[in-house]
Amino acid sequence: MSEKIKIGFYALTSCYGCQLQFAMMDEILQLLDKADIECWFMVERNSDEDKEVDIAFIEGSVSTQEEVELVRKIRENSKIVIAVGSCAIHGGVQSWDKDKGLSELWKTVYGDAHVKFEPKMAEPLEKYIKVDYKLYGCPPEKKDFLYALGALLVGSWPEDIDYPVCVECRIRGNPCILIEKGEPCLGPVTVAGCDARCPAFNVACIGCRGAVGYDVAWFDALALEFKKKGLTKEEILERMKIFNAHNPKLEEMVNKVFEEGE
Ligand code: SF4
Ligand code: SF4
Ligand code: SF4
Repeated sequence: MSEKIKIGFYALTSCYGCQLQFAMMDEILQLLDKADIECWFMVERNSDEDKEVDIAFIEGSVSTQEEVELVRKIRENSKIVIAVGSCAIHGGVQSWDKDKGLSELWKTVYGDAHVKFEPKMAEPLEKYIKVDYKLYGCPPEKKDFLYALGALLVGSWPEDIDYPVCVECRIRGNPCILIEKGEPCLGPVTVAGCDARCPAFNVACIGCRGAVGYDVAWFDALALEFKKKGLTKEEILERMKIFNAHNPKLEEMVNKVFEEGE
């Protein structure tokens, strides 16, 4: 029996950008010394979704009834499940307009076309299964994939990121787009790890890594700042929901700012 760790990489509804990011890494060849790839259709032609694995990486939002069954099967067959990217962790940009309802969204995208699957509103993995670790980003950074995998391969556990993009932005010494240009930057509520890539190019963060966890995404404080800069509640919600439409606290926190009439 092989003593290598068994890994699988599975895709739900997604652009395949996360797995492409990792499949393009030179280091993936070194990984083959340490791991057997049991399932990864992008890189392994003998992939099998039914095999048991030690670590399952799952990309994409749960957007069909078939995917609900698939993620439950993967969970049963895996010791560790890692949600990869904003689609898997937050429901992705495809959840942005979820308040319109599935039938209107469906009609807009597909019209009267016939499909073979049973659609549902895009949702994060955690709605259906336990997730053990998250690789944030759209797509995640290569270094984060290597760090997480490296830690697990040596029997350790990777640390989570519990601070926002602003921390990395200040370390880089970028001028603050929110303060100096008055643009609605989402860095204060977005989980760090991208080294403040967009503000470094003088572009406001749109929150593609999703809200920072541990109840430190203060949507209300940021909404108040946006409000002072003249944004309406609808504009604020629209911007904050791009990658956070399923966040249970977002709407309530933003509403509070406008109800208080500050
Ligand atoms: S998280 Fe971003 S890069 Fe990854 S599958 Fe979703 S849309 Fe594509
Ligand atoms: S530019 Fe954005 S990310 Fe950078 S410090 Fe300002 S608010 Fe934070
Ligand atoms: S700065 Fe914001 S939008 Fe840009 S990569 Fe980082 S999290 Fe994504």
